[in-house]
Amino acid sequence: SIEIRLENITKTFKAKNETIYALKNINLNIPAGKTISILGPSGCGKTTLLKVIAGLEKPDEGKIFFNSEDVSELSPYERRIGMVFQNYALYPHYKARGNLAFPFWIKKVPEKEIDEKIRETAKILGVGFEYLLDKKPKELSGGEQQRVAIGRCIIRNPSVMLFDEPLSNLDAKLRVITRAQLKKLLVTFNVTSVYVTHDQTEAISIGDLIGIMNNGEIIQVGTYEEIVNNPKNSFVASFFGKPSMNLLEVKVINSQIMWRDKTIPLDKKIEDGEYLLGFHGKDVEINPNGEIKGEIYFIDGTPADISKVLHVQLEDNSSIKIEIKSGEIYRCGEKIAFSLPKKIYLFKKN
Ligand code: ADP
Ligand code: MG
Repeated sequence: SIEIRLENITKTFKAKNETIYALKNINLNIPAGKTISILGPSGCGKTTLLKVIAGLEKPDEGKIFFNSEDVSELSPYERRIGMVFQNYALYPHYKARGNLAFPFWIKKVPEKEIDEKIRETAKILGVGFEYLLDKKPKELSGGEQQRVAIGRCIIRNPSVMLFDEPLSNLDAKLRVITRAQLKKLLVTFNVTSVYVTHDQTEAISIGDLIGIMNNGEIIQVGTYEEIVNNPKNSFVASFFGKPSMNLLEVKVINSQIMWRDKTIPLDKKIEDGEYLLGFHGKDVEINPNGEIKGEIYFIDGTPADISKVLHVQLEDNSSIKIEIKSGEIYRCGEKIAFSLPKKIYLFKKN
């Protein structure tokens, strides 16, 4: 399979008198055969990134390599890209079978050969797919349409597969089922893939690697653990993880953290200034002698969850999240106290 490399990719759009930087100097390596999830808020440039990899948008600057080959000037067809979109984009007038066959009809591939390819694809997509082949898109549910769209993508034996929020139009239950099927498919296929989503759970369960995007930039790439345990900046800290990291506004003076009237010594030298102090809710231990006090105002989770999240309002009206085991009993309105955990993070405010 193919390693994808993006070098200094910048893409702007002109809107009225404004220049929108959809992608700002992106450098990214996607290892051969792996799936990277690109996770970021709406409007951060995810779709543009996919289109640039596909060859559907031409970057203003930068180059794209598939292994050692510079594909920057190649068409999507020449790049052998398979793409699956949120809205499936099936041809409405053709049955599912026709949707799969269409690219081969254009190339005048013999019917018998096409049938064989469809049979192989149906086998890969597993139980029940054959049954969908003789239906038109409007006779299929959202989940079934998405399976056909995925079939249409893999039948062409693409060198790279790109997914743009492919599950976001499915209901919650179907999303979980399709997610599992898709992950299995990607593992079996061993094809290099980019999976764009704004859904953390999806990004984490599908991707071998996760790339966090914001404002046209890839802020950090890593595994779930790498990113959660070592977020590169306060955006990643506040955005990634469930629950995401707690952040308190603090000052550092003479290597001491000052939060409200409290002083917490630091064991290493840090430049004076304004910081965000980060800590994970799972590292917090509630105890009546703790120096930080607050009141529980919301408890997130169901009896079926292994852990729950207490939302706690602190004395300065900021809010933090503490993870507890489901068996521990707390109530909304209850006052609690805790100390800062040993493991803290400091992000310079800018
Ligand atoms: P995402 O997929 O993460 O929601 P997009 O890649 O669609 O983000 O968009 C990134 C930014 O580029 C947004 O500000 C969007 O409005 C802008 N943009 C995307 N496509 C176009 C376009 N064809 N013309 C003008 N602006 C665009
Ligand atoms: Mg998008």
